[in-house]
Amino acid sequence: MTQTINTTCPYCGVGCGVNATVSASNRHIQIKGDQSHPANFGRLCSKGSALGETVGLAERLLEPRINGQTASWEAALDLVADTLLKTIAAHGKDSVAIYGSGQLLTEDYYVANKLMKGFIGNANIDTNSRLCMSSSVAGHKRAFGSDTVPGCYADFEHADLIVLIGSNTAWCHPVSFQRIRAAKEANPRLKIVVIDPRRTATCDIADLHLPLAAGSDTTLFNGLLKHLSASALADGYIRHHTQGFAEALTAASSADMAQVAADCLLNPADVALFFAWFTATEKVMSLYSQGVNQSTSGTDKVNAIINCHLATGRIGKPGMGPFSLTGQPNAMGGREVGGLSHQLAAHMDFATPGDINRVARFWQTDNIPAQGGLPAVALFDAIYEGKVKAVWIMGTNPVVSLPNADKVKQALQRCDFVVVSDCIADTDTTALAHVLLPAQGWSEKNGTVTNSERRISRQRSLFNGAGNAKPDWWIICQVAQRMGFGEAFAFQHPVEIFREHAALSGFENHGSRDFDISAFADISLTDYDDLQPVQWPVNAANPHGTARLFADGRFFTPSGKAQFIAITPRPPANLPDTDYPLILNTGRLRDQWHTMTRTALASQLNQHKPEPFVEVHPTDAERFGLLHNSLATLESRWGNMTARVHITDGQKPGNLFVPMHWTAHYASHGRMGALVNPAVDPVSKQPECKHTPARIRTYPAA
Ligand code: SF4
Repeated sequence: MTQTINTTCPYCGVGCGVNATVSASNRHIQIKGDQSHPANFGRLCSKGSALGETVGLAERLLEPRINGQTASWEAALDLVADTLLKTIAAHGKDSVAIYGSGQLLTEDYYVANKLMKGFIGNANIDTNSRLCMSSSVAGHKRAFGSDTVPGCYADFEHADLIVLIGSNTAWCHPVSFQRIRAAKEANPRLKIVVIDPRRTATCDIADLHLPLAAGSDTTLFNGLLKHLSASALADGYIRHHTQGFAEALTAASSADMAQVAADCLLNPADVALFFAWFTATEKVMSLYSQGVNQSTSGTDKVNAIINCHLATGRIGKPGMGPFSLTGQPNAMGGREVGGLSHQLAAHMDFATPGDINRVARFWQTDNIPAQGGLPAVALFDAIYEGKVKAVWIMGTNPVVSLPNADKVKQALQRCDFVVVSDCIADTDTTALAHVLLPAQGWSEKNGTVTNSERRISRQRSLFNGAGNAKPDWWIICQVAQRMGFGEAFAFQHPVEIFREHAALSGFENHGSRDFDISAFADISLTDYDDLQPVQWPVNAANPHGTARLFADGRFFTPSGKAQFIAITPRPPANLPDTDYPLILNTGRLRDQWHTMTRTALASQLNQHKPEPFVEVHPTDAERFGLLHNSLATLESRWGNMTARVHITDGQKPGNLFVPMHWTAHYASHGRMGALVNPAVDPVSKQPECKHTPARIRTYPAA
């Protein structure tokens, strides 16, 4: 007996629709791309296609555990609630924290945020999405007054120029890449420019690759702004719909083309060609991802890109606009509910007058703190320093993925009380937990996610929960009730949480916020179960969703005008020196996801790149005596690891690249995160994972 259920891929922010044909008797599924889903129209990448191999029980956490011993849910939940209350009583509210994940469904995220900010009363809840796109969040907020991606994937098929900045789209957002490649085949006018220090697989479709010096993006886009000012400004648009152009142009005034090329280590003719194409092409999309975001200038990079779109009025219309490619399946949903420590919920935040009071009245609580909490890196520093004494980690593996990961590991080893809820039993982080709570995994969870183009889709249960695993929202609500916050967490089904989330988005909104799904405030269970993918806002004015925003030139700033941001380029926080002469870059591979806890279960996905490696330019290999396929030790001031040497001229001289995925659990000697410096962007607090001074030597030579 089989059944086909429409659901959503749990890996990247493309948010592909999946048809899963389920045989419940043996937990077997067959996977196909959903032809009707507007994100992928039936396409899937290697990871999505292999989902069927990841739903077995071998690696699963199936029962609660206390100090390594199997325990009942009653005992585990009582212990978590009791310890959080005692910690707060002894050390104050700020002594407890939650660290979540873009893997959580929106409903899970909503109640976690409500518990911490609304009822425990501190804002120490952050998420691994801090590592992913918080610079885009901050850049959007500065420019638009709201965290809004203006366009949609359909714009790929309208554009005549697509600029991919800091994005190996071919591997990290493969179905979007397939769409762009198909658009190029269908539209002979469409040109592709890839801006990335590495020559990645994405360059296979590039008409122009600009291998700029690591961290020099703001210089390049300041130069573009200055170049546009000579002939391509949308004067009327700038005058009527923006503010701050003169200051932004003044800041960019020294960026003449020859100097830009020199500063970015680019061929002047290539820079001239890029500037000429951007100037001459009306339908331009600028897609950016971690190469832009994961930087101590990440927010400035985002705004330098947006400045060029505002200067030309190319935003919010078919085929044009800046577009942030989110890394995780529900990075956007997390932002909607306030998953970052400076946010409240429904795109409200601590810094906007009236928002705290509004959310407090909606939640009927007087316990919301006056200001935001600790962002990810600072949160784990606070654990290390003993200021945070109890932490609850949900669906993520920070001992591998956070920068300065050895210190993160030490922080959790020192911490009085570590709770981890996860669907996987053995990770580098679960190994340090006092209490393990078995969460349902993809194929069991039931709720919603939002992809990069603001499209809300359903993740639907294919099977009952494995073993004694429970939904994250249920676990959080059970703890909240045991802490004495019963009424506010009396949810019996995710639809009830979704309704409350939707109602909050419309509560006293009056069009003052971009995120508004108030059309769903009374959604029935049947309609929730049948919910078709839809882009927010979804409200009385836009009952069928909204493909694009800002076409009318109105923004969510107090003035209603978009803001240019004056950008002064800054170097990365830590520069190479004689001891650490190379620049370490990090990123994803085509066939693995994050710390491999699920993708490594699919045998064919492990064939693509079977072990940790480091990419090295031939001149650096010669300089440091490295042979292709030999082993090398990488060191930074923060840690070390061993990896196989891959010599390639796709690297820039002086640059190294290491994938982020392998962990001690997969027999790797060292973790990439241990190498990475913990410097963060001063605005977004996103870490600089793309630029760590490092050195390399043959293994095991001292
Ligand atoms: Fe899943 Fe992303 Fe691949 Fe789509 S592109 S199938 S969402 S991993």
